[in-house]
Amino acid sequence: MYDVIIVGGGASGLACALTLVSSRGRGWSWAEDKKYLIFDKNESDLHKAYLKNVPGLQPMRGTELLQVIRKQIEEWGGVEFLQEKVVEIRRDGEAYRVITEEGKEYVGRYVVLAGGFKEFSIKGIDFEVLENPKSPKPGRVMIKHENYEVMPNLFVVGTLAGISSHFTSCAGSGVEVAVEILSRMAGKRIVIHDVPED
Ligand SMILES: Cc1cc2nc3c(=O)[nH]c(=O)nc-3n(C[C@H](O)[C@H](O)[C@H](O)COP(=O)(O)OP(=O)(O)OC[C@H]3O[C@@H](n4cnc5c(N)ncnc54)[C@H](O)[C@@H]3O)c2cc1C
Repeated sequence: MYDVIIVGGGASGLACALTLVSSRGRGWSWAEDKKYLIFDKNESDLHKAYLKNVPGLQPMRGTELLQVIRKQIEEWGGVEFLQEKVVEIRRDGEAYRVITEEGKEYVGRYVVLAGGFKEFSIKGIDFEVLENPKSPKPGRVMIKHENYEVMPNLFVVGTLAGISSHFTSCAGSGVEVAVEILSRMAGKRIVIHDVPED
């Protein structure tokens, strides 16, 4: 059983994972044993991008940025990456059963959909898939949600949530949802703000 399963490891999915794992090592007993899983087909739009407009970031290829964020996540530990395609999600009591193309099944208390806006074909739940109004190209999709929540403890982030297709906006939605999940786990509002050690 995983605490959070993230479907998609691009801008929004990785930002969500990084915020989730950065709850470790702060003396919060509820955070220490949490297990996180990311499924990613490794087809993020960032692979096509050269980023010169991300605040505070030196110009960088999107592929390099993905590697940097993955390394940040790995340094915290506690996140498993699987390069598999998720094809189905089913309700399983209070949790969700996530099924891959290879037929493997994984259970998570929370699920975050972060698969981007190019298509959405995950079956099992009657998701309301809409035309994405913020896409510059036709045929892009989004999933209907309220404050990123599609149904209890199942969230959508990034371009699939209808967020403007920019790295910072998509990453921001991933962070927003991670903080909401951490707050539910803790039973109180959580923020993660670090300060210099000296
Ligand atoms: C050519 C180009 C240039 C760009 N330049 C800029 C720029 O200069 N500045 C800027 O801010 N933004 C730029 N962007 C936009 C930026 O790349 C996107 O806004 C951002 O990547 C969207 O993040 P996301 O998390 O919604 O989706 P993505 O980053 O696309 O990630 C989605 C991930 O989910 C995976 N996935 C999808 N479905 C499944 C599934 N069923 N199972 C497992 N994995 C799945 C995909 O393989 C992918 O890895 C550019 C985009 C393009 C295409």
